[in-house]
Amino acid sequence: MGRLEGKNAIVTGAAGGIGLETSILFAREGANVLLSDISGPALEKALAKLHEVVPSAKDLKVETKICDVSKESDIEAMVAHVDSWGGLDIIFNNAGIMHADDDDAVNTPEKIWDLTQAINVKGVWFGSKHAVLSFRKHGKKKASVINTASVVGLVGSATPQLAYTASKGAVLALTRELAMVHAREGFRFNSLCPAPLNTPLLQDWLGDDAEKRHRREVHFPTGRFGEAVEQAQAVLFLASDESSFVNGTDFVVDGGMTKCYTTPTGAPTEAPK
Ligand code: NAD
Repeated sequence: MGRLEGKNAIVTGAAGGIGLETSILFAREGANVLLSDISGPALEKALAKLHEVVPSAKDLKVETKICDVSKESDIEAMVAHVDSWGGLDIIFNNAGIMHADDDDAVNTPEKIWDLTQAINVKGVWFGSKHAVLSFRKHGKKKASVINTASVVGLVGSATPQLAYTASKGAVLALTRELAMVHAREGFRFNSLCPAPLNTPLLQDWLGDDAEKRHRREVHFPTGRFGEAVEQAQAVLFLASDESSFVNGTDFVVDGGMTKCYTTPTGAPTEAPK
């Protein structure tokens, strides 16, 4: 028996990074999965990759749907798709953008602020809203919503990314409130707080600048960025019934980064001899 056997799941931002790795694990554990993203061509590549690494997915419903999470009508259509499978059990509201081009109080463009909140916050609200409506419609007595926040929702970032940081703090707050409001219906809401990872999102930010990358990695007790699959493992736990008493948490997967005191000259870089 897979850990998600018989469950129907949606993953947003599924075309790459954390979303794709999570879709792969969900399918491997027996869930039917709707991979959704704003980018159609990238979704098709993601679907091909999933089938390549999870041959048993041919016996499941594993499909794709283009969806811009900032548009409620898109979210509604995405959830309706899974309703036709017999109702949603799990949604991973994961799609997000980050613009970090010296975005401090003075330099953050208003349109970047608005776009970031529209995708990173409103998208999570819309996904949660239509998930609740679906859970109720299908009489689900237990269901799981996981929303991707970030460690920058918990601690300040010294590299200016104001709109992004504000959006991720909002994801934590809204997830906590949803968890309280819907707990008695059996619907759980948890946030995932990843630290910087090796994904395209980070690659866009750091480019090929090895020195810039090293200056970030040195702040990890582990001395390395995380991998998307390490986030996906946590999402799988939060999605499964194994986490049935885990609700409203800020689930931190950061290699200890937010627990590490670093001096301006840097963090420990070598393992003790
Ligand atoms: P990623 O860029 O690979 O994935 C983000 C996905 O979201 C992309 O496939 C993109 O096409 C999609 N997307 C963007 N706008 C969208 C929209 N309007 N509607 C639907 N899909 C849209 O990067 P990732 O690291 O896998 O990011 C996943 C989540 O993790 C994001 O919410 C991000 O903020 C968060 N996160 C990432 C890191 C990191 O270092 N990579 C750290 C903390 C949090």
